[in-house]
Amino acid sequence: MNYNTDFEMDFEDRMVDTAEIPSDGIDADNPLRPRTLDEYIGQEKAKENLRIFIEAAKKRGESLDHVLLYGPPGLGKTTLSGIIANEMGVSIRITSGPAIEKPGDLAALLTNLNPGDVLFIDEIHRLSRAVEEILYPSMEDFAIDIITGKGQMAASYHLPLPRFTLVGATTRAGQLTAPLRDRFGVVLRLELYTPEELAKIITRSAGILGIKIDEEGALELASRSRGTPRIANRLLKRVRDFSEVISDGVIDLKVAQIALDKLEIDELGLDQNDRRMLNAMIKYYKGGPVGLETLAAAIGEEAVTIEDVYEPYLMQIGFLSRTPRGRCVTAAAYEHLGYKAPADTAAAQGSLFND
Ligand code: ADP
Repeated sequence: MNYNTDFEMDFEDRMVDTAEIPSDGIDADNPLRPRTLDEYIGQEKAKENLRIFIEAAKKRGESLDHVLLYGPPGLGKTTLSGIIANEMGVSIRITSGPAIEKPGDLAALLTNLNPGDVLFIDEIHRLSRAVEEILYPSMEDFAIDIITGKGQMAASYHLPLPRFTLVGATTRAGQLTAPLRDRFGVVLRLELYTPEELAKIITRSAGILGIKIDEEGALELASRSRGTPRIANRLLKRVRDFSEVISDGVIDLKVAQIALDKLEIDELGLDQNDRRMLNAMIKYYKGGPVGLETLAAAIGEEAVTIEDVYEPYLMQIGFLSRTPRGRCVTAAAYEHLGYKAPADTAAAQGSLFND
């Protein structure tokens, strides 16, 4: 396959997109979402810690300490927050940073919680300053002070809140203000999944959806899913369509390979957009270093999308490195795209490092 000609592809409808789709909802509509820690595959370190904290909180009859989950999109942060509530035997309210516009919105959410409940705030790094200001005392003292009116008519109310657990999720822990970060007792980083873990997730999902897939087929899908369960589940559904049309409905290695090639997802899970970005870096910037904003402008993509969605995986497979002077394409990426790596790439000089 010639990977060097895809400059005109647009970024819409990305098969390996990590953006949430409606069927990912935490409600019962998404049967693929694990409900217990035992069903939740991988993330052993995070799970082990959570298990202990949940057990201890339950033993003491207390609510769980506030939890911050961080890592790239689609790795299971929302799922894990649902599991935390389920394991604690409490209800969960789900919202997101941008959805809480005013302090009053947060106050309404908090005062409607029952003792012990989980409040899940996705994209917590996008809370406004004003909302953050009332979140701190709520997290610490389980009370909020609300001021109504102005001047002589101003009145202040002290509103006690039930003890609740805030679970915050973010793709970028670095963007959280220090006072907010410090108020989380438990901070867990989710990692990209190994192909073996993703194969287990795919096999589990296939069982739930009644899709027939063999071990090799599952591993093939897994190794092209960029370490991300959301992508693995999405590929499973698309490849099922191919398996029903081109064979007897069973996803084996061959069907998986044919289907994924047709979807233009290569054997490492890169799609046209990854290739387009790497190609642009090679062709226009001699493989880098190139600054994030420059790169974003060159390929018509948002800088945050490059950082959150493209880079974690490209860095994990050793195709991209971040240096103080910008992003660099490595020799391995040159080779994968069918180029000869120039002798003077950062990669060839051994001077690359990931931060
Ligand atoms: P995030 O909130 O990090 O963007 P989600 O929790 O929405 O990710 O997970 C995306 C999808 O991936 C969910 O629908 C869920 O079915 C699946 N998933 C995530 N993590 C796991 C896991 N550890 N085991 C099984 N399925 C998972």
